Amino acid sequence: MSDSTAIGRAGATERIADANDAVRLELAIEDREDFEDARRGFVAALSPALVRGTEGRVVWDMESYSFLEEECPDTVNPSLWRQAQLNAIHGLFEVVPGIYQVRGLDLSNMTIVEGREGVLVIDPLICAETAAAALALYREHRGPRAVTGLLYTHSHVDHFGGALGVVDAADVAAGRIPVLAPEGFLEHAISENVYAGTAMARRAEYMFGAALQRGPRGQVGTGLGMTLSTGSIGIVPPTREIAHTGHEETVDGIAMIFQMTPGSEAPAEMNFLFPNHRALCIAENATHNLHNIITPRGALVRDARMWSRYLGEAIDLFGEHADALFAGHQWPRWGRERIVEMLAKQRDLYGYLHDQTLRLLNKGYVGSEIAELLELPTGLAREWHCREYYGTVSHNVKGIYERYMGWFDGNPAHLWSHPPEQAATRYMRAMGGADAVLEEGRRAFAEGDYRWVAELMSHAVFADPSNLEARELEARALEQLAYGAESAPWRNFFLMGARELREGVREGGNTPSREMVALLSTEQLFDVLAIRIDGPRAGELRLSFNWIFTDTDEHHVLMLSNGVLIHSANRQDSHADATVVVERAALNELFAGITPMTELLGEGRLRVEGDAAKLGELLGLLEEPDPSFAIVTP
Ligand SMILES: [Zn+2]
Repeated sequence: MSDSTAIGRAGATERIADANDAVRLELAIEDREDFEDARRGFVAALSPALVRGTEGRVVWDMESYSFLEEECPDTVNPSLWRQAQLNAIHGLFEVVPGIYQVRGLDLSNMTIVEGREGVLVIDPLICAETAAAALALYREHRGPRAVTGLLYTHSHVDHFGGALGVVDAADVAAGRIPVLAPEGFLEHAISENVYAGTAMARRAEYMFGAALQRGPRGQVGTGLGMTLSTGSIGIVPPTREIAHTGHEETVDGIAMIFQMTPGSEAPAEMNFLFPNHRALCIAENATHNLHNIITPRGALVRDARMWSRYLGEAIDLFGEHADALFAGHQWPRWGRERIVEMLAKQRDLYGYLHDQTLRLLNKGYVGSEIAELLELPTGLAREWHCREYYGTVSHNVKGIYERYMGWFDGNPAHLWSHPPEQAATRYMRAMGGADAVLEEGRRAFAEGDYRWVAELMSHAVFADPSNLEARELEARALEQLAYGAESAPWRNFFLMGARELREGVREGGNTPSREMVALLSTEQLFDVLAIRIDGPRAGELRLSFNWIFTDTDEHHVLMLSNGVLIHSANRQDSHADATVVVERAALNELFAGITPMTELLGEGRLRVEGDAAKLGELLGLLEEPDPSFAIVTP
């Protein structure tokens, strides 16, 4: 058990403790139905619930969540505590005869369907280590069945990253194991994290709170599961793309009927029925929480309208044919009526958020106003699986506004306002200086207006990051907001902010793996270079290079023009400064940080014909992204 007292400086204030008490009274916290579902079909658990990677490093640790067995403290919203207890129930479970799930061995679930010869594995978790441990747990209790098929429900890493822990890439390449995925899977799996990957990863540190200490004053999960595993991520590309609703497929004697749901929770996603098992896999389209229309880590805004429609379609297609419903996260649900009831409420949840946001924006309200105005109808608000453990009404509404209207709220005073540091300096001056602002902050803290304290102190910190009193007061306000939050990502954001205000940013880093780089198209690879060009330094410089990839027989021109790296395929420029002859495989090693440029040149794996100094000039214009940029300070 982790030391849970070290993380926060203070416990909950009376105001937050009272608010949490009110939640306890308002909700039927003692309702055990979900707990019965979460434990139903239990076969066995991993004990101790630890997964180790290379050199014994722990990549998954459920033991650190044992504090959740205790009573909810006043530093956690009781509704979130209940959700964390449910998500912490882990082990191997039978969903229906022939369908098993390993839950709580990663953020996501691995589902195993028994076929004629072996098993079909659905969604092999985030990393090879946890996926292998999950499969081993299954085999220990169900026999050493071979993997005869693999299926990805959608293009998010927590549903494919551990593929190499359950299959051998050579078996897949040789056609021995089919790998099924929705149409567009590979493109989206790779591209979602290419362009803004560094910033998304940095914000994901806040959202999932993986580096936070676990405990009553720290991380209590992510709402959707407990946390992210930290082993080795890979990918095995699909060999069979599913493209049409109604498509039927049989793998190792296991029949499936598909429903495509592109642009719902992920850009490539699908639901499917096992007609012979009367079981429905709903991917990540209906989970035991309000999901994210816009994820706070950052991504394109998802389409709440289509999400809702797909769930309606799932009821029409499969509602009569499923006695069990399971997803890529959390516990299943049984009983035809209960399944349809859940899908209908989830359909209405996303539909209501979409339609009511649009109704209100057409009356002139802006995102931040709609976020305060919009409340779910009681039938949805009181439903556990519609509650804000992951997404919130507040930030989802702002996302829907943004999808239709963009960042601008239409008020010309906001069309050209000062950015944070410049605004902060001016606010501080207008409010009478740091001492006066701190005094107002302390008054607001005593009143329990922590949102206002955070906003005021953020101005003070952005005007003067060396103001330790302002940093501490902001940290204390964020802490109280965390203790009251029902949403785990909100709690984690608040706690990470408090930590970095007190301790600063811990240096991190993320380099893409060679396997992931190898799957980038050449266009994506050159796009990644283009994004790293320091435009102002590039200035008026004009450079042109021919690229020849000897192993893939590709010809490209890469041209620097007005600070932009322009790429065209299947061309050569007769006036190019130089021609770069290289294997694409060598370039992958360079991008993944495995082999430096000098070594590739020295070994002759990269050859420059023409003016080599010009290539040096181009490379000199590349800037490294910053994986640990400041968020709560300027
Ligand atoms: Zn997921």
